[in-house]
Formats: sequence, structure tokens, C-alpha cells
Amino acid sequence: MARQGLSLRRRLRHTLHAARTGMTRYVGNRPWVAGVAGTLVALAMSILTAVEVGEGRREMLDHARQTSQNLVSIISADLARNVEIYSLSLQSMVDAARNPVTWTLPGPARQAMLFDRATTAAYLGGAYVVGADGEVAAAQYNGANTTVHLEDREYFQVQQRNSAAGLYFSHPFMSRLRGGEQSIALTRRIDDAQGRFAGIALLAIRIEYFQHLLDRIDTGEQGSVFIVMTDGTVLARKPFEARAIGANIAKSPTFSAMTMHDSGTYVSVSPVDGVRRIFTYAHVPGSPLIAVVAPAVDDVLAPWQRRSHVAAVLTVGFGAVFVLVSWLLAFALRDKQRAQAALQRLAATDPLTGLSNRRVLDKRLDDEWMRARRENKPLSVLFIDIDHFKRFNDTYGHESGDEVLVAVADCIASVARRSVDLVARYGGEEFAVVLPDTTAQGAFAVAEQIRRRVENRVILPGQDAPQAVTVSVGCATALPTATDVASRLELLAAADAQLYVAKNAGRNRTSSAQWDEYSVAQRASSTGAAL
Ligand code: GH3
Ligand code: MG
Ligand code: MG
Repeated sequence: MARQGLSLRRRLRHTLHAARTGMTRYVGNRPWVAGVAGTLVALAMSILTAVEVGEGRREMLDHARQTSQNLVSIISADLARNVEIYSLSLQSMVDAARNPVTWTLPGPARQAMLFDRATTAAYLGGAYVVGADGEVAAAQYNGANTTVHLEDREYFQVQQRNSAAGLYFSHPFMSRLRGGEQSIALTRRIDDAQGRFAGIALLAIRIEYFQHLLDRIDTGEQGSVFIVMTDGTVLARKPFEARAIGANIAKSPTFSAMTMHDSGTYVSVSPVDGVRRIFTYAHVPGSPLIAVVAPAVDDVLAPWQRRSHVAAVLTVGFGAVFVLVSWLLAFALRDKQRAQAALQRLAATDPLTGLSNRRVLDKRLDDEWMRARRENKPLSVLFIDIDHFKRFNDTYGHESGDEVLVAVADCIASVARRSVDLVARYGGEEFAVVLPDTTAQGAFAVAEQIRRRVENRVILPGQDAPQAVTVSVGCATALPTATDVASRLELLAAADAQLYVAKNAGRNRTSSAQWDEYSVAQRASSTGAAL
């Protein structure tokens, strides 16, 4: 069990290692993969951040809208409740005024009859009963200047003209009764017993009441909150602006949308200051009033903007670093891979001739031997040795000897040109050629071609006449099968043996022996004599 675990772990480690080296090689060969992958990751992170930031903005606006809606509800409820109280007060005043008994009572009793049920709320500018001629017939407070005439007032005339006017809200005016205080009036008509106009019941409300309602609300730096009548007359506004009170904004494009529904919310740019605001409004039930809360979009988004700026800078910064590092890493990997490949090439090549070295030969011979055995195909090997090379060296010097070696190597390589062929420098002035899937006859032909090409092409000046360099070649061919007992070393040895046969036969020639399973078995059982 423990053993199994161990081998499993080893296998896992092996797999991981293979995957890692595989990936390193893959990326090293394609540096742009790492770079592009890094860039894509950075891009994906940026997109995610952007989406997140966008979501944050939406949430911020939603939250502001919600808050505005709550504020509008509170203002509207407050107004509605007071309007209801005022309406009831007026009704009781009307009822008392219509009762003829009221007017027969002495001063204080009449006062009580008319105004006892009238409200005494703060900001109430007083309750009055006005006669049909516009003169104040009775006032809630004794100090009031009752000599004034009110028949020219809009709230009086409306009730005078229209018997069905009901509860009427006036526009703001400067009070004549209370020393010019800015107020609005709520009035109801008083009819006599015959249904003729007999005057009005009047409640004056100081405009400060509306202003006071708004004062507690935080509107932000550029936001505003206001109470406006359905015809566009502004009753109160925060930030406060004296000349805005009583002004009509009916023509403003930010106002018109409010008249269409009972409540709602929309974004609009003010034509006055160019500020974009979120308008949330609600009509106050039972009155011609609209409560509006309008924070500026910039104020609402200010904290989000700060946060998103930080997020943007960080994302772009980190993203850029990430991209840079990915590309640096990619190119570093590529350079490493290249250096490694160069090193590998160097370790596999003979520096003088540029041919493969002995190490590669051994490996390739092994591989080809296995392949030939698997595929049941012949495998041939040539062993090539330069004739009397020592003599060239002694006569022309070691340097010329090297040149001859290079020239011979070129000749051999130019003949054995199939991609599967391998030409290697075996050592000294000896070369070996591996010819996979080549019969003894084919190998012999290749050997002869090499021999002739060297003889024809590698010519030394010579002391008297030009002298051709020649080589002797030994060929060996095997047909390895699964039951074969022979090894690649024996194949090489056989080629070597044939080389000596060629040398002994006078040099500049090729010698070959048929090499197959049968002869290997025979050879293995003999004393190792050359074939
Ligand atoms: P033959 O093979 O025909 O019997 O004669 P040979 O003179 O070629 O025989 P041998 O194999 O004894 O000689 C090998 C000589 O090759 C020895 C050495 O002087 C020379 N040699 C070996 N390696 C190199 C090399 O790298 N450069 C040069 N210039 N000469 C080398
Ligand atoms: Mg030799
Ligand atoms: Mg030699």
C-alpha cells in the first residue's frame, strides 16, 4: 500500500514535471503566448473592474433616488397633514360664521365661537373672517390691524366669483394684516342663508413654514429642494433665495415633467446653472403643492468618483505592470530556450566538421535499432576511414589535415542526405553513417558513392602531381526482429570489421557482408572472427 502511494506520488511528480517542462518549452518557443495571455488577463481584470465600477455608479444613483423618495414622502406627509388641519379649521370657521347667533354674541364669546377650533400652529399668521365687502369682520388675535380691505385679493375674488371654489390656496403675498410678512392664504367661502356670497374664512400661513420644512434637509453642494405649486409658483426653496420665492418656473423644462404624474423621478439639466440633477417629486394630496428633492448628480457621485478614480489608476497601473512582466517573462523564457537549444546543439556536434558526435551516433543507433526491430526493416551502418591520413598530416601539417577532414565530412554529408540518415564523426579520421530502412545492397551503393565523391573532390596539391584523398568503407546491414539476440554494437563492430577487410584489400574500396538475423546468431556463437 505504502509502496503504491510512493509510486503514485512519483508518477504524479513526474507528470507535473513533464507538464511544466512541456509548458516552458511551448511558451519559450512562442513568447507571444505568455505575453498575450498576460495582456488578456490584465484586460479581463480591467473589464471586471470597469463593470464593478459601473455597477457602483448605478447603485449610488439608485440609493440617491431612494433617499430622495423618502424625503419627498416625509415633506409631502407633513404638508398633507397640516393642510388637512387647516381645512378643518376653515370649515369650523365657516360654520360658526354662518350661524347668525355668532354675530349677536359679545366680543370674547364671538371670538371663541369663531376661532376656538381654529388651529394655533406655529407659522400660522392668524385666522380671519372677512365680510362680503372685503373688510375684516373678525380676527383670531386682537392685535391684528382689521381696518384693511381685502376685496382686491385674489383669494377673496376667487371665492366671491366661484361658489364651488372650495379650499383655495393663494399665491404668496405681502400681508397687510401683519406688517408685510410674506404669506399664503387658505380660504373658504361663506354663504349666507340664501346661498349668496357673505365673505370668506381665511387662514394666513407664513411662508417661513415651508422654508422651515426644507431647512433640515441636506441637499449637497449643488442640490436643491423646493415646494412649488402646480402652476409653477415657488413657495420655498433650499438653498434659500429671496427673489425665487413667488417666482414662476412653469416655463422651465425641469418643471413640466412634474405636472404629468402624481409622483416620479427623472434627470434633467438646469438651463439656469447647467447642473444635472435627479428630480424626485410628489404631489401633496388635497393641495396644489408639489414637493421636490433634486440632488446634483455630481454631488451624488462624488464619493463614487473618488473611489473609481483610485480603482482606475490602480487597475491601469497594475495591469500595465502585469502586461510588462508577462512580456519580459515571455522573452526571458524564449532567450533561455534559445540558449538551451544552442547548448544542446553544441553538445551534439563535432566542432571541426559540424557533424553529429559520437554521443548522438550511439543514441540514434539505439533508436533506429529499436525502430527497425519494431517495423521489421533493415538497418545499415557505414564505417569510413581516411586512407593514410597520418601521411597527409605528416606531409602537409595538422591544419591541412583538418581541412581534409572537413572536406571529407562534407562529401559524406552530401551523399547521405535523407532526413533519417545520420552522419557522425566517430573519432579521429573515422566517420560512421546510419542508414535506416536500407538494405545491404543500398548501403553498398551509398558507400561507393561516398568513396567516389571523396576521391574525385578532395584533391591535395601533392609534391609532384595532385594527389587524391581516398577513403575505405565498411558496410554492415541487419534485419533486427523481436527475437533477435544481436545488438547495435555488433552491427557497428561488423561494419568496423568490413572496414579492415577493405583496408587489407588495398584501401580506397568498399567492403560489405550480408548482415541478418541468421549471421548474427552464427557470429554470436563463434569466436568473434570477422565475417
Ligand atoms: P590507414 O587508416 O589508411 O590505415 O592509415 P592512417 O594513417 O589513416 O591510419 P591511422 O588511423 O593509424 O591514423 C590516424 C591518424 O589521423 C592519426 C592522426 O595523425 C590523425 N588524426 C586523428 N585525428 C585527427 C584530427 O582531428 N586532425 C588531424 N589533422 N589529424 C588527425
Ligand atoms: Mg583510423
Ligand atoms: Mg585512416
